[in-house]
Amino acid sequence: MSAALPSLRIAIVGAGMSGLATALALFQNGFTHVEVYEAANNLGFVGAGIQVAPNLARQLQRLGVWEYMIEDAVELKEASIRAGATDEELSNVKLTHVAERYGQPHRVAHRYALANALYQGCKAAAPRIKFHFGTGIVGIDFENHGIQVRARDEEGEGHWVDADVVLGADGVKSIVRKCMLARHGELDGAQDTGQSAYRIMLRREQLAHDPELLALVDSNSTFRWIGARRHIIAYPISGHTIFNISTAQPDVNFAAEPTATWTTRADKSTLLKTYSDFCPAVARMLELVTESEVCEWKLRVHLPLKTWVEGNVALLGDACHPTLPHLGQGASQAIEDGAVLAVVLSKLTTVDDVHTCLLVYERLRKARTEHLVEQAAASGRELHLTDPAAQAARDEAFRQVKHGGANPDRWVDRTMQDFVYGFDCVGDAEERYDEYFAAEKNGARAKGDV
Ligand SMILES: Cc1cc2nc3c(=O)[nH]c(=O)nc-3n(C[C@H](O)[C@H](O)[C@H](O)COP(=O)(O)OP(=O)(O)OC[C@H]3O[C@@H](n4cnc5c(N)ncnc54)[C@H](O)[C@@H]3O)c2cc1C
Repeated sequence: MSAALPSLRIAIVGAGMSGLATALALFQNGFTHVEVYEAANNLGFVGAGIQVAPNLARQLQRLGVWEYMIEDAVELKEASIRAGATDEELSNVKLTHVAERYGQPHRVAHRYALANALYQGCKAAAPRIKFHFGTGIVGIDFENHGIQVRARDEEGEGHWVDADVVLGADGVKSIVRKCMLARHGELDGAQDTGQSAYRIMLRREQLAHDPELLALVDSNSTFRWIGARRHIIAYPISGHTIFNISTAQPDVNFAAEPTATWTTRADKSTLLKTYSDFCPAVARMLELVTESEVCEWKLRVHLPLKTWVEGNVALLGDACHPTLPHLGQGASQAIEDGAVLAVVLSKLTTVDDVHTCLLVYERLRKARTEHLVEQAAASGRELHLTDPAAQAARDEAFRQVKHGGANPDRWVDRTMQDFVYGFDCVGDAEERYDEYFAAEKNGARAKGDV
């Protein structure tokens, strides 16, 4: 595909998953002036696993970067949902149908492998994609469609960078979003979910002495142990050399001592205490964690925004639809946003239509991603039930999955998988663009038709 206006000046704020993927998708669509501004001095991704569901793998193949991470990825063949306290397997969902049904198997990988794959693709696209690391955006001039950037080391006011389009891919703490809301006198509505997550990685050799644990890292399975208000999900990554463990539990650490970072080194003894009533296999697994390697993330979401677009500025990824991790779709949806942005911007024939074009993007993505944010939260509520009667009913529902019942863990529910994995965001954007563009041009929004 080739952009009708290839020299459109596109500024991307943030080189996270969505920023990198968007830059690359824009390049692939023929854009020649893509500048990425990243506050950090390098990519700096927290060591953790990430689910590479079929809808994400499809985008990575489209972006031509799949080869960079194929060796890291592990194909999942089943998902085992277990009672945390007893280790009883409540549900075993085969994932072998996924490749046939959605064109790609379900995989998991190291977060760094994904980010690095995207970055390698972007680097190969230089100078059409240009990175400015250590350069945080501190303000936006919406009138002139410009952005103000200030290099980290500079003491002064920074300098203005002109752009035709500004894409806010700056994550859950988005400055671009804050600027947009402030323009309307609104406060940023980032919400504390009351939950935090430990991210832990065990190396294969740490498990080697324990045949039961070794079998987990050698398997092609994901394991979810659930309990009241908490769960643990674990799976092998990096060619089965690492067992990745991610948890969700009530936030005590950040609530007691609010920090600006929302990510911190955590205390192993607190981790062990939090899961002390889980089964012996989990206890042995957590005992192996190296004291200094427990990382804790605060889990935040945001109230749905009225709009993702202000002038020629649009939000994407966690900046506009941060989600709980229970569907494993945060990065996937962020990367889909980038793919859709590249499609709609490539259809522009005049800079005067940038705003309308961004409204088309919002129309294609907002309701869908916000629905998934709700579904992730709902899945978390089911997994974390506290009432014994409700837990028993849920566990029975888990057992009925093999007879065709809905899975309370929506990540592995067939209807949800059809909705998420069976959807081609690029094909959808291609199909709907003309209709949505015409509607936006005709003032559909002002008439209340959207
Ligand atoms: C515990 C946990 C587990 C998860 N597991 C999964 C999973 O299995 N699968 C999945 O798909 N998703 C998962 N996610 C979600 C996923 O990590 C996010 O949805 C994804 O990283 C969002 O990408 P992003 O590019 O929008 O934001 P980010 O990746 O947060 O990137 C934002 C970037 O913007 C930069 N930035 C910020 N402010 C500025 C500024 N002012 N100027 C310039 N740069 C700036 C930041 O430094 C950062 O590099 C998980 C999340 C959590 C918390």
